[in-house]
Order: sequence, then C-alpha cells, then structure tokens
Amino acid sequence: MSTYKSDTVVLEQENKNTKTTKGYAAANPTTPLAPFSFERRDPREHDVVIDIKYCGICHSDIHQTRDEWSEALEESIFPMVPGHEIVGIVTRVGDKVSKYKLGDKVGVGCFVDSCRTCAECKAGLEQYCTVHGVYTYNGREHDGTPTYGGYSEMIVVDENYVLRIPENLALDAAAPLLCAGITLYSPLRHWNAGPGKSVAIVGMGGLGHMGVKLAHAMGAEVTVLSQSLKKQAD
Ligand SMILES: [Zn+2]
Ligand SMILES: [Zn+2]
Repeated sequence: MSTYKSDTVVLEQENKNTKTTKGYAAANPTTPLAPFSFERRDPREHDVVIDIKYCGICHSDIHQTRDEWSEALEESIFPMVPGHEIVGIVTRVGDKVSKYKLGDKVGVGCFVDSCRTCAECKAGLEQYCTVHGVYTYNGREHDGTPTYGGYSEMIVVDENYVLRIPENLALDAAAPLLCAGITLYSPLRHWNAGPGKSVAIVGMGGLGHMGVKLAHAMGAEVTVLSQSLKKQAD
C-alpha cells in the first residue's frame, strides 16, 4: 500500500560523487527514523547511479521498520533504510550500461535484482523469483550485502532493474507508481481492463485511487465500492 504526493519525501542532495550516502534509518523496530550514513557500492559494469529526488512512503515501509513482517520475510535487517518508490536522475553509468545515460529520469521499485535463471526470471516475472529476489531494502544482494532503500540521497542499481520515467511525467507524482501504481496496473492489465469492461475498486485509498485512475484511463467503466459515500466527491 502506498500514500501519495503529500507524503513524498524530498531529500537534500550533497556528496553526489562519493560512495558515502546519507539517509534515514530505523535503528531498531521501536525508534523513529534518524539520520544514517552508509556506503553504496561503486558502479559495476551494468550499474546505474541514481540521484534520488523523491521517494514515496509505502505502508509496507512502516510494517518493515516496525519488524511486523519478520515471520513472513526471512529476517529483518537493522539499521533499515526504507523506501521502494524511488525516482531520480542518472548521474553515472557503468561501462556496459546501454539502456540509460546521464540525465535520464528513472525509477526503482520493490526489487533491485533476482537470480535471473529460474523459470520466473526467464519469463520476465522477476518479482516472483523463486531462488533469490533482492528486495530494494531489508534484503540482501547475492554477496550477502544488506540493501538500503530510497530514503536516501542516491542508489546504485543494475540497469535491468531500473525503470524509465517518461519526460512528461512529474517526478514527485511518479514516485508512488513504483509500488502502489504497479500493484493496481498489473491486475488491470492482466484482466484486460478496457472499453466494454466493468471494473469495481474496493475502497478508494492509496491503492484504490490509483486503480480508479488507471482503469478509467484504460477505458473501462469504473465503480468504487465503499462503506460510505464520504469519498463520493473525490
Ligand atoms: Zn529467479
Ligand atoms: Zn510498497
């Protein structure tokens, strides 16, 4: 789940060309986030270095920093820098990067790598990787290094796990699409929402309002199911 623009985090940019990165981390499940410095890796051949401009606040950030999912996930890694609705500008690319160049507007969602060899990865469904999906934060790279998310100045991600943000889309508005947006876009596409189809969205919250806008844009007839008419005007 995700909140939207009003909750977007704006981070000051400093130390653009150094590995040491400033962010906000939860030291443990009970304390508020606090400033935290950590190291990002030097870009490898296929890595893109992204100056983070905005990062949405997803409710799963709160669940994970409070360690509420440790039974579902293998472990929680503290200190934890949350954030998986990341948008920013490419400032550096590895020698073999072909998809992005300096200045490109890009995004990073919930995962930053996967095994690349299992059936799911080969089918382009890396989010279902059955061997080792690497979450954007609270996860581990293939070498065991903990991952840190988007509540930070910059991130280094393999180009194959980076998304392009169209020029005509504002970066702040684009951030929540990286989790809340794709969560609704995926089923709507899967079920071919479009002209002649009816879509019902249960609840118009952080995800629901995305579903309304996306299904409408796809040409479907959209109905919101809600317990009251409080949000009717919206
Ligand atoms: Zn895989
Ligand atoms: Zn999320």
